[in-house]
Amino acid sequence: MSTPPSTPRSKGHSDGTTIVDANNRFGVDFRDESSRLGPPPCPIIDFHAHIGGDRAAMLYREVADLYGIQQVFSMTRLEELPRVREIMGDRVQFIAVPDWYAEDRKHALGAGYLDQIGLFHAEGARIMKFFQAPRIRDVEREFGDPGLLRLDGPFKVEAARLAEELGMAIMTHVADPDTWFKCKYADPELYGTKAEQYEPLERMLDRFGVPWIAAHMGGSPEDLDHLDRLLERHGNLHLDTSACKWMLRELGSKQTPDITGFFTKWRSRLLFGSDILSMDAHLEPSTEENVMAAKASGKEQAFDLYASRYWALRMMYEGTGSFESPIVDPDLHMVDPDTHSETDAPTVRCHGFDKTLLESLYRGTAETLKRTLGLDEVPPIRS
Ligand SMILES: [Zn+2]
Repeated sequence: MSTPPSTPRSKGHSDGTTIVDANNRFGVDFRDESSRLGPPPCPIIDFHAHIGGDRAAMLYREVADLYGIQQVFSMTRLEELPRVREIMGDRVQFIAVPDWYAEDRKHALGAGYLDQIGLFHAEGARIMKFFQAPRIRDVEREFGDPGLLRLDGPFKVEAARLAEELGMAIMTHVADPDTWFKCKYADPELYGTKAEQYEPLERMLDRFGVPWIAAHMGGSPEDLDHLDRLLERHGNLHLDTSACKWMLRELGSKQTPDITGFFTKWRSRLLFGSDILSMDAHLEPSTEENVMAAKASGKEQAFDLYASRYWALRMMYEGTGSFESPIVDPDLHMVDPDTHSETDAPTVRCHGFDKTLLESLYRGTAETLKRTLGLDEVPPIRS
């Protein structure tokens, strides 16, 4: 691969105006950038994404082709499975998720999720997702039922039993960035402290020996020592590296020996992920109804939204030197509005992993987990 430029090249705007595109601050062509980067050392398995939509899924496939992503584990809505499978073929595996859009959301996130897991399992899914961000407390309050959706609450215990019975793994979101605990979750009465988010997780890891995947570096890329202790204590725990802006900010600000040391020690437990979310609303013009268009509002912007994630993540793991992230990180301004504007992005240190470390992060660990879950034997289902 080529050495990254200190700042991505700018193609500029013909009328001379400066428009900051949140996913492409320097106006680069991520198609060109993918060929400058070259192919990864092995085809990549993205273990954490949310692929949906029709044209959006096709656009995602184009991005995956450009950046060497051979397979993706996707949290796709059940009704979208057939179409996404048609577009992605054997390149997609699904992760069971509750129906967030159900009319009776309280049922869908509780008892209804158990049925939904069965339906996903019948479609070949061997992983179920628990969404345990602190803001789930707001949903419980909306339902008037505090504790209903706890990670070690009644429904999650039932779901974990189901995981044992069906031979499934559990992916869970746990905690959120430190920056959010400083701002959005500043009231520990409402959300608990960051440390408290790990108590139910550890109880569940002990109680259910199935493989667990704690998303977004276990919610704690800020504190690798904490993750080190968690991984030591729980042999069934894996972490995925998804959530691009968060990872660039935290992993990209740490010293390379610390990052390579951690990733080498835990190479058999770390899975590459992006958290890319694709949906057709990204390809539509921005309107009041089309709220999701805030992330992108047209095909090229949607392309940048997806491609920028793979570009930046691969650059951090494979490259040398450093680069200013092409993706606006609103947390910088949220935490420190005096120092950072709303369109700032962090400078990311590249860690230049060697080929064998990249191979385990990008693919090897995922292949091992797939074998554990019997995923190589699941015949592709054509609906
Ligand atoms: Zn996600």
